[in-house]
Amino acid sequence: MAHFQILIIGGGNAGISTAAQLLRRKKDLHIAIIEPSEKHYYQPAWTLVGAGVFDIKRTIRNEESVMPRNVKWIKEAAAFFEPQNNTVITAQGNSYTYDYLVVAPGIQLNWRDVKGLKETIGKNAVTSNYSYQYAPYTYECLKNIKPGDTIFFTAPSTPTKCGGAPQKVMYMTADYLRRKGILKDVTLEFVSGGSMLFGIKKYAASLQKIVDKYGIILHFKYDLIAIDGEKREATFKLMNDAGGATVTRKFDMIHVTPPQSAPDFIRQSPLVDVKGWVDVNKYTLQHTKFQNIFSLGDVTNTPNAKTGAAVRKQVPVLVKNLIALIEHHSMTEKYSGYGSCPLTVGYGKLVLAEFGYDNKVMETFPFDQAKPRRSMWLLKKYVLPWLYWHKILKGSA
Ligand SMILES: Cc1cc2nc3c(=O)[nH]c(=O)nc-3n(C[C@H](O)[C@H](O)[C@H](O)COP(=O)(O)OP(=O)(O)OC[C@H]3O[C@@H](n4cnc5c(N)ncnc54)[C@H](O)[C@@H]3O)c2cc1C
Repeated sequence: MAHFQILIIGGGNAGISTAAQLLRRKKDLHIAIIEPSEKHYYQPAWTLVGAGVFDIKRTIRNEESVMPRNVKWIKEAAAFFEPQNNTVITAQGNSYTYDYLVVAPGIQLNWRDVKGLKETIGKNAVTSNYSYQYAPYTYECLKNIKPGDTIFFTAPSTPTKCGGAPQKVMYMTADYLRRKGILKDVTLEFVSGGSMLFGIKKYAASLQKIVDKYGIILHFKYDLIAIDGEKREATFKLMNDAGGATVTRKFDMIHVTPPQSAPDFIRQSPLVDVKGWVDVNKYTLQHTKFQNIFSLGDVTNTPNAKTGAAVRKQVPVLVKNLIALIEHHSMTEKYSGYGSCPLTVGYGKLVLAEFGYDNKVMETFPFDQAKPRRSMWLLKKYVLPWLYWHKILKGSA
């Protein structure tokens, strides 16, 4: 049985940047990452891929190429936790022990929770930017939209990574149709399991103006529950306490944001809260029950927007607190709940929402970021992908 000083579950955005920053601060740490995937993805650019302005190949790299030197990569999937024995057991049946554990396996996309979705996604004009496989198909669908068509964009009632992404694709589609001169001849409908457009007033007001400008119809408290690709029918359920009514509608194209949860192996573990997310102190990112366990990224129960932007602010907090614990100092770093949502509201136009716990607006730039701007679009399209591959994953940003 192999033993590591620090064992990290997940070699995605959070796991790789945590390992890299730990080693920048303390070279002699003995770290391993359990990660089954041969590939690493830059997911935020999939919105741009779906709009036809970013090459999908630039969003994927070999996992090996992002693994920090001096980190042992265990190419297996974590399956069970025995925190009382400081042990993780993998799906391959191997056990690994640790002094400290960092849990970062991201969020799970539950395609299976919408009846018929798995069978039809990627064809019949049913698409999703939430996957490397299907994001390019979104653009193929866009090109086929005709006057008279009805297009749906869904958002589930579960938490999602990048809560703005279900809307970003909608605004890009609307602007695509506007540029083609057929926007007013196409019906665009947003169907959300949530109850509002955006949780923060300032940005919600700005987005409402954009919705009005494009003539998008909004429906709240409706979850997509079934889809029949061949018949081009989607069934939605009203999410109310009385066990809501269902409604079936014909579509010509539908962009689906799948329901999401913590991964199954996490939900079945002793590490979670009642809702199945890893239970950590929202400021220190230390587990509430097991002192030598930390967690960050999409899998935690911290009440922030689940984004890579949040991960960027969580990593230095976790790293400094973990090193303090190793060196028997007190933990002083606190995560503010910062997250950001770069809302692409049209080709060359972006609203950069930035906020922390309790919906506190936390903007970076000295101008009103609720206003759509070309500079912020350039930031998303050119600066952030570069920053991700060259700085964030290397632990220097
Ligand atoms: C369409 C879309 C648009 C987005 N737009 C933005 C944006 O504009 N801005 C922004 O900041 N964020 C955006 N995000 C969100 C961002 O990509 C995530 O929040 C971020 O990747 C979270 O990092 P993570 O490390 O928690 O999860 P991930 O980066 O998803 O990594 C999780 C890793 O864990 C691994 N794993 C899974 N199961 C196991 C297991 N059993 N054992 C070991 N490892 C396992 C996975 O293979 C993966 O490598 C977007 C996401 C999507 C899908």
